[in-house]
Amino acid sequence: EAKRVERGTWRFYEQALDADRDTRTVLVTQLHEALASGQLFLEYQPKVCLARGRVVGVEALVRWRHPEQGIIPPTQFIPLAEESGLIDELGDWVLRRACADLATWRSRSPREAPEQVSVNVSGIQLRTEALWHSVRRALSESGLNPEQLELEVTEGVFYDARASSLRRLSAAGVRLAIDDYGKGYSSLFVLRDLPANVVKIDRAFVANAQNRFADRAIIASTIALAHELGRSVVAEGVETQVQLQMLRNMGCDMVQGFLLAKPAIAAKVPKLCLMRW
Ligand code: C2E
Ligand code: MG
Ligand code: MG
Ligand code: MG
Repeated sequence: EAKRVERGTWRFYEQALDADRDTRTVLVTQLHEALASGQLFLEYQPKVCLARGRVVGVEALVRWRHPEQGIIPPTQFIPLAEESGLIDELGDWVLRRACADLATWRSRSPREAPEQVSVNVSGIQLRTEALWHSVRRALSESGLNPEQLELEVTEGVFYDARASSLRRLSAAGVRLAIDDYGKGYSSLFVLRDLPANVVKIDRAFVANAQNRFADRAIIASTIALAHELGRSVVAEGVETQVQLQMLRNMGCDMVQGFLLAKPAIAAKVPKLCLMRW
């Protein structure tokens, strides 16, 4: 199947998610090998604090350098890892790599290093204790403080038993961010009940903010509500100066997006930390 498909297209992978069991097995096997043979790597996207005008954190984003298909984005293989049970191992690798990278940047030059690193966590990873053990190991191996690690989770996971995994991590000092806020099934209970430090406004709202009053109103009131509840706010997907100015005026704490910086390999992070906005 794979050989019939052109190189460099993601079509195959998209179809594969709906394909038969054999095809999936091949992909899962390849993903297994990818983990073992170092085909996965991380890029980091800066989070810029508007009050300080500098990078305060970076978000780790996993990629797969596939020997035939080239670089595969996470949207194409994370679902597969979730279905196959490989997500715990993949997530463990991401956590350890991200913590090790932050420790390296900080030891070389704190001035050119982010203060913290954020790691995306799938809801599946919260179903067992695997994540808890991964976090503990990643922190102890790297020597980071729990406060230097932030986990990004989407809204949905806050509603069921998985919330207790999050409370335990939060009690241990790890920071929590609600990713893609506003995109899922809402959210006011989440803001009220859970120990999230950060709310990340979904980039769909930011994308429309220039043209639509409703999106501006939602962003402004989310910022006000989050602040009222003692949370800070990150706007995702900032691509234009107009959006940036708007978010500044609204009192948004942090911004992330292609306007500020695209995701970059670990070696490029120290240089990004010297930029000022
Ligand atoms: P996310 O956590 O919401 O990450 C933000 C995504 O938006 C990233 O895509 C990033 O490259 C992209 N982005 C950043 N700035 C802009 C912008 O200005 N404009 C636009 N159009 N896009 C922007 P990416 O790297 O493809 O990641 C997609 C999703 O895959 C992530 O969404 C996250 O949910 C998931 N993901 C990535 N890495 C991991 C991981 O290590 N573990 C898990 N479980 N999920 C991951
Ligand atoms: Mg994220
Ligand atoms: Mg997001
Ligand atoms: Mg997203």
